[in-house]
Amino acid sequence: MSESTVLDQRSESRLDEGDHERFAHYVNKTDMTRSAVTGNPVRALCGKKWVPNRNPEKFPVCPDCKKIYESLKAVGR
Ligand SMILES: [Zn+2]
Repeated sequence: MSESTVLDQRSESRLDEGDHERFAHYVNKTDMTRSAVTGNPVRALCGKKWVPNRNPEKFPVCPDCKKIYESLKAVGR
């Protein structure tokens, strides 16, 4: 039980303020809309978690998100 608690804390501390500003990540549109209302962080396909605060369209697409997105499309989901 204590191990899962540690994991939870570590995942929370992964709210970096750095590279999410350099890439446009794939995020569920519903999550994005909800985040705009609640201010809660969103989670991208690559696992990146952050509070979106600017238009991502001017950034290059995150290579990890793109890879996952392509594989999801290939599966037909
Ligand atoms: Zn990403």
